[in-house]
Amino acid sequence: MYNNPFESAMGQLAVAAKKLKLDKNFLAELQNPARIISVSIPVKMDDGHTEVFQGFRVQYNNFRGPFKGGLRFHPQVDMDEVKALAFWMSIKNAVVNVPYGGGKGGVAVNPKELSKSELERLSRKFIDLIYPDIGPHVDVPAPDVNTTAEIMGWMVDEYSKLAGKFTPAVITGKPISMGGSQGREEATGFGGFEVLKEILKTDKRKRSDISVAVQGFGNVGYFFAKFAQEFGLKVVAVSDSKSGIYNSAGLDIEKVLDWKKKKGALAGFTGTKTITNEKLLELPVDVLAPAALENQLREDNAHKIKARVIIELANGPTTPQADKILLRKKILVVPDVLANSGGVATSYLEWFQNLKKEKWPKQKVLSRLSKYMRQALKDVLQTGKKYKTDLRTAAFILAIHRLYKAKNN
Ligand code: NAD
Repeated sequence: MYNNPFESAMGQLAVAAKKLKLDKNFLAELQNPARIISVSIPVKMDDGHTEVFQGFRVQYNNFRGPFKGGLRFHPQVDMDEVKALAFWMSIKNAVVNVPYGGGKGGVAVNPKELSKSELERLSRKFIDLIYPDIGPHVDVPAPDVNTTAEIMGWMVDEYSKLAGKFTPAVITGKPISMGGSQGREEATGFGGFEVLKEILKTDKRKRSDISVAVQGFGNVGYFFAKFAQEFGLKVVAVSDSKSGIYNSAGLDIEKVLDWKKKKGALAGFTGTKTITNEKLLELPVDVLAPAALENQLREDNAHKIKARVIIELANGPTTPQADKILLRKKILVVPDVLANSGGVATSYLEWFQNLKKEKWPKQKVLSRLSKYMRQALKDVLQTGKKYKTDLRTAAFILAIHRLYKAKNN
């Protein structure tokens, strides 16, 4: 079942706007991105022919600071997806209270079908095309699905060549050797887990009795699962785009990662049952962490969800229709704009270090990040109490207040 992510995002905004009796003029501004950039990216392939890829950058709003958000390389990337992701970034940056607006970009490509040199040429050419529209105080991209620190490194290098000087602050999520920050790699999973830890404080059960399933075993899913296991929770299932693995006694996440690296897939990992992504979502676990793509919890499967807490590490994993069903089932949904904001909060710390020409140790970065996450959760919970509403609507209300204040000051 396809749900247009931008329509989902606007549905979420409408719920918060209604609750807030939001001024219609400001609502209209929030419903429209400030700028949309669409480019055709010609790339010379290894066999000599040229292929043209479509690339996008949406600069949603910059009321609170430069546009900020990741770049995604995925075949499903289209303008509505990028618009939705850029909108969520402007909400998220306000929720976690970093001085940024919202932006997002992407290229419609399956990077797994490209050689490394083709991928590098694509990444560099994309930067050549959007060069006039980005910059450390204008718009600061970062990694997202299928875009790694190495890719960010090529992009910073390309931008720096065009600018005539090394400009690390133009992009975050870089390799440490190019001005990247300690702690950025694990930041999103770490931040999500900090939020979950706070939520579990009232749970009196033994940690090993609390089960967790994670959909998506990429950067975010892997680190979240790792921190959960290190804390003593029982991670019983993880998945990638091909399939999932399940063991009710718990998985050793480091061993799973080694297996995935060696075999290229999760299936077949010793002692586990192979399950589909659909089944993973429906497992009888305490915590479900969708950490892959949008539209995973929908009207057609939300009633089958058995988890008590959903921690949205992916962007937009739950449709507004599914939200209503989950709310009725009294499942606590920790929204993406809060749960996965650790990535951008650490991007902010990386950017700050670049601008100040500082290099912080990992512990300093992660302890600052932990503070951002706990404060954001506290602010969202307080807003939820005040407006008697769920956490997503509360996060949107909090963000809208902050955006409104920035715009009208
Ligand atoms: P990634 O490319 O490192 O990993 C994505 C994972 O999802 C992979 O394991 C992939 O196999 C899996 N996947 C892809 N399609 C799937 C499908 N249909 N079903 C199940 N699994 C599937 O990407 P990432 O950086 O870990 O990002 C994951 C999510 O987190 C995205 O929604 C992204 O926007 C969001 N996010 C990422 C960051 C960050 O810092 N990387 C920050 C905030 C939000």
